[in-house]
Amino acid sequence: RTYLDYNATAPLRSEAKAAMMAALDVIGNPSSVHAEGRRARGIVESARESVARLVGAKPSEVVFTSGATESNTWVMAQPWATILTSGVEHDSVLAPARAAKCNVIELSTGRDGVVRVEEIAEHILKRSIARPAVVALQMANNETGVIQPVAEVAEFARAYGIAMHSDAVQAAGRVAVDFAALGLDTMAISAHKLGGPKGVGALIIRDHLDLVPLLCGGGQERRRRAGTENVAAIAGFGAAAEAAQAELRNMSAVEALRDDLEAHIRAISPRAVIIGETASRLGNTIAVALPGKLAETLVIRLDLAGVAVSAGSACSSGKVGASHVLEAMGLGSDIASGTIRISLGLETTKDDVAAFVAAWQAIAGSHALAA
Ligand code: PLP
Repeated sequence: RTYLDYNATAPLRSEAKAAMMAALDVIGNPSSVHAEGRRARGIVESARESVARLVGAKPSEVVFTSGATESNTWVMAQPWATILTSGVEHDSVLAPARAAKCNVIELSTGRDGVVRVEEIAEHILKRSIARPAVVALQMANNETGVIQPVAEVAEFARAYGIAMHSDAVQAAGRVAVDFAALGLDTMAISAHKLGGPKGVGALIIRDHLDLVPLLCGGGQERRRRAGTENVAAIAGFGAAAEAAQAELRNMSAVEALRDDLEAHIRAISPRAVIIGETASRLGNTIAVALPGKLAETLVIRLDLAGVAVSAGSACSSGKVGASHVLEAMGLGSDIASGTIRISLGLETTKDDVAAFVAAWQAIAGSHALAA
Protein backbone atom coordinates (compact mmCIF):
# COMPACT_ATOMS: atom_id res chain seq x y z
CA ARG A 1 0.00 0.00 0.00
CA THR A 2 1.04 3.57 -0.66
CA TYR A 3 -0.07 5.95 2.06
CA LEU A 4 -0.32 9.56 0.86
CA ASP A 5 -2.75 10.98 3.40
CA TYR A 6 -0.46 12.50 6.03
CA ASN A 7 -2.70 15.55 6.42
CA ALA A 8 -5.46 13.26 7.70
CA THR A 9 -3.06 11.56 10.07
CA ALA A 10 0.62 10.59 10.09
CA PRO A 11 1.87 7.12 11.03
CA LEU A 12 2.81 6.76 14.70
CA ARG A 13 6.54 7.35 15.13
CA SER A 14 8.50 4.54 16.76
CA GLU A 15 9.76 6.99 19.44
CA ALA A 16 6.16 7.88 20.30
CA LYS A 17 5.09 4.26 20.49
CA ALA A 18 8.02 3.40 22.79
CA ALA A 19 7.26 6.35 25.09
CA MET A 20 3.60 5.35 25.25
CA MET A 21 4.36 1.73 26.05
CA ALA A 22 6.66 2.81 28.86
CA ALA A 23 4.09 5.27 30.22
CA LEU A 24 1.38 2.59 30.28
CA ASP A 25 3.36 0.82 32.99
CA VAL A 26 3.31 3.87 35.24
CA ILE A 27 0.38 3.45 37.58
CA GLY A 28 0.23 6.82 39.31
CA ASN A 29 -2.16 9.70 38.79
CA PRO A 30 -0.12 12.84 37.99
CA SER A 31 -2.06 14.73 40.67
CA SER A 32 -1.09 12.31 43.45
CA VAL A 33 1.69 13.33 45.80
CA HIS A 34 3.22 9.87 46.29
CA ALA A 35 6.14 8.45 44.31
CA GLU A 36 3.86 6.74 41.76
CA GLY A 37 2.05 10.01 41.16
CA ARG A 38 5.29 11.92 40.87
CA ARG A 39 6.52 9.53 38.20
CA ALA A 40 3.41 10.14 36.12
CA ARG A 41 3.77 13.89 36.72
CA GLY A 42 7.36 13.70 35.51
CA ILE A 43 6.24 12.14 32.23
CA VAL A 44 3.62 14.83 31.66
CA GLU A 45 5.99 17.69 32.46
CA SER A 46 8.78 16.35 30.30
CA ALA A 47 6.35 16.01 27.37
CA ARG A 48 5.19 19.58 28.02
CA GLU A 49 8.76 20.79 27.63
CA SER A 50 9.20 18.90 24.34
CA VAL A 51 5.95 20.25 22.89
CA ALA A 52 6.80 23.79 24.04
CA ARG A 53 10.22 23.57 22.37
CA LEU A 54 8.74 22.44 19.06
CA VAL A 55 6.47 25.49 18.82
CA GLY A 56 8.53 28.22 20.48
CA ALA A 57 6.37 28.45 23.59
CA LYS A 58 7.11 28.24 27.30
CA PRO A 59 6.13 24.99 29.05
CA SER A 60 3.77 27.02 31.25
CA GLU A 61 1.90 28.03 28.10
CA VAL A 62 1.14 24.45 27.00
CA VAL A 63 -2.21 22.98 28.08
CA PHE A 64 -2.84 19.39 27.00
CA THR A 65 -6.25 18.70 25.48
CA SER A 66 -7.99 15.83 23.71
CA GLY A 67 -6.88 17.22 20.35
CA ALA A 68 -7.06 20.29 18.19
CA THR A 69 -10.84 20.07 17.90
CA GLU A 70 -11.08 20.69 21.63
CA SER A 71 -8.38 23.38 21.47
CA ASN A 72 -10.13 25.31 18.70
CA THR A 73 -13.54 24.86 20.31
CA TRP A 74 -12.19 26.13 23.61
CA VAL A 75 -11.00 29.40 22.06
CA MET A 76 -14.17 29.92 20.02
CA ALA A 77 -16.28 29.30 23.15
CA GLN A 78 -14.83 32.30 25.00
CA PRO A 79 -17.23 35.19 25.63
CA TRP A 80 -16.24 37.09 22.50
CA ALA A 81 -18.40 39.88 21.10
CA THR A 82 -16.82 39.40 17.66
CA ILE A 83 -15.04 36.51 15.92
CA LEU A 84 -13.27 37.43 12.69
CA THR A 85 -12.21 34.36 10.77
CA SER A 86 -11.76 32.91 7.30
CA GLY A 87 -14.01 30.59 5.32
CA VAL A 88 -11.10 28.21 4.75
CA GLU A 89 -10.71 27.31 8.45
CA HIS A 90 -11.13 23.74 9.63
CA ASP A 91 -14.64 22.81 10.76
CA SER A 92 -13.38 22.66 14.35
CA VAL A 93 -13.00 26.45 14.15
CA LEU A 94 -15.98 27.27 11.95
CA ALA A 95 -18.61 25.11 13.67
CA PRO A 96 -18.03 26.43 17.22
CA ALA A 97 -17.63 29.97 15.86
CA ARG A 98 -20.99 29.72 14.10
CA ALA A 99 -22.53 28.32 17.27
CA ALA A 100 -21.18 31.21 19.36
CA LYS A 101 -23.66 33.84 20.35
CA CYS A 102 -21.67 36.72 18.91
CA ASN A 103 -21.00 38.55 15.69
CA VAL A 104 -19.09 36.19 13.39
CA ILE A 105 -17.36 37.58 10.30
CA GLU A 106 -16.16 34.92 7.85
CA LEU A 107 -13.90 36.24 5.14
CA SER A 108 -13.42 34.54 1.81
CA THR A 109 -9.93 34.36 0.33
CA GLY A 110 -8.41 35.10 -3.01
CA ARG A 111 -8.46 32.29 -5.58
CA ASP A 112 -5.01 31.37 -4.33
CA GLY A 113 -6.50 30.55 -0.90
CA VAL A 114 -4.76 33.37 0.94
CA VAL A 115 -6.77 35.82 3.05
CA ARG A 116 -6.53 39.44 2.03
CA VAL A 117 -4.78 41.24 4.86
CA GLU A 118 -6.18 44.58 3.71
CA GLU A 119 -9.72 43.18 4.03
CA ILE A 120 -9.04 42.11 7.62
CA ALA A 121 -7.48 45.52 8.28
CA GLU A 122 -10.49 47.24 6.80
CA HIS A 123 -12.83 45.30 9.07
CA ILE A 124 -10.74 46.20 12.08
CA LEU A 125 -10.19 49.84 11.13
CA LYS A 126 -13.35 51.00 9.44
CA ARG A 127 -16.10 49.01 11.06
CA SER A 128 -16.79 49.21 14.71
CA ILE A 129 -15.99 45.70 15.78
CA ALA A 130 -17.47 45.01 19.20
CA ARG A 131 -14.87 43.93 21.79
CA PRO A 132 -13.67 41.60 23.11
CA ALA A 133 -12.81 40.34 19.66
CA VAL A 134 -10.61 37.60 18.27
CA VAL A 135 -9.15 36.85 14.87
CA ALA A 136 -8.87 33.10 14.14
CA LEU A 137 -6.60 32.38 11.19
CA GLN A 138 -5.05 29.00 10.42
CA MET A 139 -1.33 28.71 9.76
CA ALA A 140 -1.68 26.23 6.89
CA ASN A 141 -4.71 24.71 5.27
CA ASN A 142 -5.37 20.98 5.64
CA GLU A 143 -6.83 20.57 2.15
CA THR A 144 -4.53 22.76 0.05
CA GLY A 145 -1.46 23.35 2.24
CA VAL A 146 -1.77 27.10 1.57
CA ILE A 147 0.02 29.14 4.22
CA GLN A 148 -1.60 32.26 5.70
CA PRO A 149 0.14 35.51 6.69
CA VAL A 150 -0.47 34.87 10.38
CA ALA A 151 2.35 37.04 11.78
CA GLU A 152 1.24 40.04 9.75
CA VAL A 153 -2.39 39.70 10.80
CA ALA A 154 -1.39 39.08 14.43
CA GLU A 155 0.64 42.28 14.50
CA PHE A 156 -2.29 44.23 13.18
CA ALA A 157 -4.75 42.61 15.58
CA ARG A 158 -2.49 43.29 18.54
CA ALA A 159 -2.15 46.95 17.60
CA TYR A 160 -5.93 47.29 17.81
CA GLY A 161 -6.45 45.31 21.00
CA ILE A 162 -7.85 42.22 19.28
CA ALA A 163 -6.82 38.72 20.35
CA MET A 164 -5.22 36.38 17.81
CA HIS A 165 -5.73 32.61 17.58
CA SER A 166 -4.11 30.30 15.05
CA ASP A 167 -4.83 26.69 14.18
CA ALA A 168 -1.29 25.43 13.58
CA VAL A 169 -2.24 21.75 13.27
CA GLN A 170 -0.92 21.27 9.74
CA ALA A 171 2.11 23.53 10.19
CA ALA A 172 3.61 22.20 13.43
CA GLY A 173 6.34 19.68 12.71
CA ARG A 174 6.35 20.57 9.00
CA VAL A 175 7.56 24.17 9.06
CA ALA A 176 9.17 26.13 11.87
CA VAL A 177 6.46 27.47 14.19
CA ASP A 178 7.37 30.09 16.78
CA PHE A 179 4.43 30.98 19.02
CA ALA A 180 6.28 33.85 20.72
CA ALA A 181 7.66 35.40 17.54
CA LEU A 182 4.30 35.15 15.78
CA GLY A 183 2.72 37.27 18.50
CA LEU A 184 -0.18 34.91 19.09
CA ASP A 185 -2.46 34.72 22.10
CA THR A 186 -3.54 31.13 21.53
CA MET A 187 -2.59 28.34 19.13
CA ALA A 188 -4.00 24.86 18.54
CA ILE A 189 -1.84 21.83 17.75
CA SER A 190 -2.54 18.11 17.41
CA ALA A 191 -0.25 15.15 18.12
CA HIS A 192 -1.41 12.78 15.39
CA LYS A 193 -0.43 15.06 12.52
CA LEU A 194 3.21 14.94 13.57
CA GLY A 195 3.59 11.28 14.39
CA GLY A 196 2.05 11.19 17.84
CA PRO A 197 -1.10 9.34 18.89
CA LYS A 198 -4.64 10.38 17.99
CA GLY A 199 -6.83 11.98 20.63
CA VAL A 200 -4.30 14.31 22.22
CA GLY A 201 -3.27 17.85 21.40
CA ALA A 202 -2.61 21.14 23.07
CA LEU A 203 -3.81 24.67 23.30
CA ILE A 204 -0.90 27.05 23.70
CA ILE A 205 -2.06 29.98 25.81
CA ARG A 206 0.08 33.07 26.20
CA ASP A 207 1.19 33.45 29.82
CA HIS A 208 -1.18 35.52 31.97
CA LEU A 209 -4.04 35.23 29.47
CA ASP A 210 -7.12 34.00 31.29
CA LEU A 211 -9.47 31.73 29.37
CA VAL A 212 -12.76 30.48 30.73
CA PRO A 213 -12.23 26.69 31.05
CA LEU A 214 -14.17 24.50 28.67
CA LEU A 215 -13.93 21.49 30.99
CA CYS A 216 -14.52 22.21 34.66
CA GLY A 217 -14.14 20.01 37.69
CA GLY A 218 -10.69 18.97 38.81
CA GLY A 219 -7.82 21.42 39.06
CA GLN A 220 -5.60 19.76 36.46
CA GLU A 221 -3.45 21.73 34.01
CA ARG A 222 -3.21 24.58 36.52
CA ARG A 223 -7.00 24.82 36.73
CA ARG A 224 -7.26 25.45 33.00
CA ARG A 225 -8.47 22.02 31.84
CA ALA A 226 -10.10 19.56 34.21
CA GLY A 227 -9.74 15.82 33.85
CA THR A 228 -7.03 13.31 34.68
CA GLU A 229 -4.30 13.65 32.08
CA ASN A 230 -4.02 11.00 29.34
CA VAL A 231 -0.48 10.22 30.47
CA ALA A 232 0.42 7.65 27.81
CA ALA A 233 -0.92 9.79 24.95
CA ILE A 234 0.85 12.86 26.33
CA ALA A 235 4.09 10.86 26.55
CA GLY A 236 3.65 9.88 22.89
CA PHE A 237 2.95 13.49 21.95
CA GLY A 238 6.13 14.65 23.69
CA ALA A 239 8.29 12.02 22.01
CA ALA A 240 6.75 12.79 18.61
CA ALA A 241 7.31 16.53 19.10
CA GLU A 242 10.96 15.95 19.91
CA ALA A 243 11.46 13.70 16.88
CA ALA A 244 9.57 16.12 14.62
CA GLN A 245 11.81 18.96 15.72
CA ALA A 246 14.95 16.93 15.06
CA GLU A 247 13.67 16.00 11.59
CA LEU A 248 12.31 19.39 10.55
CA ARG A 249 15.24 19.88 8.19
CA ASN A 250 14.33 16.61 6.41
CA MET A 251 11.09 18.18 5.21
CA SER A 252 12.99 19.58 2.21
CA ALA A 253 13.39 15.98 0.97
CA VAL A 254 9.62 15.53 1.32
CA GLU A 255 9.13 18.71 -0.70
CA ALA A 256 11.38 17.40 -3.47
CA LEU A 257 9.27 14.22 -3.68
CA ARG A 258 6.10 16.32 -3.71
CA ASP A 259 7.43 18.50 -6.53
CA ASP A 260 8.34 15.41 -8.51
CA LEU A 261 4.89 13.90 -7.99
CA GLU A 262 3.24 17.20 -8.99
CA ALA A 263 5.34 17.40 -12.17
CA HIS A 264 4.19 13.90 -13.13
CA ILE A 265 0.54 14.86 -12.60
CA ARG A 266 0.97 17.89 -14.86
CA ALA A 267 2.67 15.81 -17.52
CA ILE A 268 0.02 13.05 -17.47
CA SER A 269 -2.97 15.36 -17.06
CA PRO A 270 -2.37 18.73 -18.74
CA ARG A 271 -5.89 19.85 -17.77
CA ALA A 272 -5.31 19.20 -14.06
CA VAL A 273 -5.77 22.23 -11.83
CA ILE A 274 -3.32 22.48 -8.93
CA ILE A 275 -5.08 24.42 -6.19
CA GLY A 276 -3.19 27.31 -4.58
CA GLU A 277 -0.21 26.83 -6.87
CA THR A 278 0.71 30.53 -6.85
CA ALA A 279 0.56 30.76 -3.04
CA SER A 280 3.13 29.74 -0.49
CA ARG A 281 2.21 26.14 0.38
CA LEU A 282 3.32 23.38 2.73
CA GLY A 283 5.95 21.27 1.01
CA ASN A 284 4.04 18.02 1.50
CA THR A 285 0.61 18.78 0.03
CA ILE A 286 -0.98 18.74 -3.43
CA ALA A 287 -4.64 19.52 -3.98
CA VAL A 288 -5.53 18.72 -7.55
CA ALA A 289 -8.75 18.74 -9.57
CA LEU A 290 -9.44 17.02 -12.85
CA PRO A 291 -12.29 18.92 -14.52
CA GLY A 292 -15.23 16.63 -15.09
CA LYS A 293 -14.05 14.00 -12.61
CA LEU A 294 -15.61 13.53 -9.19
CA ALA A 295 -13.08 13.44 -6.35
CA GLU A 296 -14.77 10.46 -4.71
CA THR A 297 -14.43 8.41 -7.89
CA LEU A 298 -10.73 9.17 -8.13
CA VAL A 299 -10.18 8.39 -4.44
CA ILE A 300 -11.94 5.04 -4.70
CA ARG A 301 -10.12 4.05 -7.89
CA LEU A 302 -6.77 5.03 -6.37
CA ASP A 303 -7.65 3.07 -3.25
CA LEU A 304 -8.38 -0.01 -5.34
CA ALA A 305 -4.99 0.49 -6.97
CA GLY A 306 -3.39 0.47 -3.51
CA VAL A 307 -2.95 4.22 -3.03
CA ALA A 308 -4.53 6.13 -0.10
CA VAL A 309 -5.41 9.78 -0.72
CA SER A 310 -8.42 11.91 0.26
CA ALA A 311 -11.21 13.86 -1.31
CA GLY A 312 -11.54 17.42 -0.07
CA SER A 313 -11.52 17.79 3.66
CA ALA A 314 -10.69 14.38 4.92
CA CYS A 315 -10.01 14.41 8.59
CA SER A 316 -13.61 13.26 8.51
CA SER A 317 -13.43 10.89 5.59
CA GLY A 318 -16.61 9.53 4.14
CA LYS A 319 -17.76 13.12 3.80
CA VAL A 320 -19.08 13.56 0.28
CA GLY A 321 -19.73 16.81 -1.50
CA ALA A 322 -18.11 20.10 -2.30
CA SER A 323 -15.33 21.35 -0.09
CA HIS A 324 -16.18 24.49 1.90
CA VAL A 325 -12.52 25.47 1.67
CA LEU A 326 -12.50 25.47 -2.13
CA GLU A 327 -15.85 27.27 -2.18
CA ALA A 328 -14.48 29.98 0.13
CA MET A 329 -11.64 30.36 -2.37
CA GLY A 330 -14.23 31.20 -5.02
CA LEU A 331 -13.58 28.07 -7.07
CA GLY A 332 -16.52 26.67 -9.03
CA SER A 333 -18.49 23.61 -7.93
CA ASP A 334 -16.78 21.51 -10.61
CA ILE A 335 -13.47 22.06 -8.86
CA ALA A 336 -14.87 22.17 -5.32
CA SER A 337 -16.29 18.67 -5.73
CA GLY A 338 -13.50 17.34 -7.91
CA THR A 339 -10.39 17.99 -5.86
CA ILE A 340 -8.32 15.28 -4.28
CA ARG A 341 -5.61 15.82 -1.71
CA ILE A 342 -2.31 14.02 -1.85
CA SER A 343 -0.20 14.56 1.26
CA LEU A 344 3.28 13.17 1.84
CA GLY A 345 5.39 12.72 4.95
CA LEU A 346 8.78 11.76 6.23
CA GLU A 347 8.26 8.09 5.48
CA THR A 348 7.23 8.68 1.87
CA THR A 349 9.69 7.16 -0.60
CA LYS A 350 10.48 7.41 -4.29
CA ASP A 351 8.72 4.07 -4.67
CA ASP A 352 5.56 5.58 -3.21
CA VAL A 353 5.72 8.37 -5.77
CA ALA A 354 6.26 5.83 -8.54
CA ALA A 355 3.30 3.77 -7.30
CA PHE A 356 1.09 6.84 -7.31
CA VAL A 357 2.21 7.88 -10.77
CA ALA A 358 1.52 4.42 -12.20
CA ALA A 359 -1.95 4.39 -10.66
CA TRP A 360 -2.67 7.94 -11.81
CA GLN A 361 -1.55 7.13 -15.33
CA ALA A 362 -3.98 4.21 -15.44
CA ILE A 363 -6.89 6.08 -13.87
CA ALA A 364 -6.52 9.66 -15.04
CA GLY A 365 -4.23 9.43 -18.07
CA SER A 366 -5.71 10.72 -21.34
CA HIS A 367 -6.49 7.21 -22.59
CA ALA A 368 -8.24 6.31 -19.31
CA LEU A 369 -10.16 9.60 -19.35
CA ALA A 370 -11.47 8.92 -22.83
CA ALA A 371 -12.55 5.42 -21.84
N1 PLP B 1 -7.39 21.75 12.43
C1 PLP B 1 -6.89 21.30 11.26
C2 PLP B 1 -6.31 22.28 10.29
C3 PLP B 1 -6.90 19.94 10.98
O1 PLP B 1 -6.40 19.51 9.82
C4 PLP B 1 -7.47 19.04 11.92
C5 PLP B 1 -7.53 17.61 11.56
O2 PLP B 1 -7.95 16.72 12.16
C6 PLP B 1 -7.96 19.57 13.14
C7 PLP B 1 -7.92 20.92 13.34
C8 PLP B 1 -8.56 18.69 14.20
O3 PLP B 1 -7.55 18.07 14.94
P1 PLP B 1 -7.86 16.81 15.87
O4 PLP B 1 -7.97 15.64 14.96
O5 PLP B 1 -6.69 16.72 16.81
O6 PLP B 1 -9.12 17.10 16.61
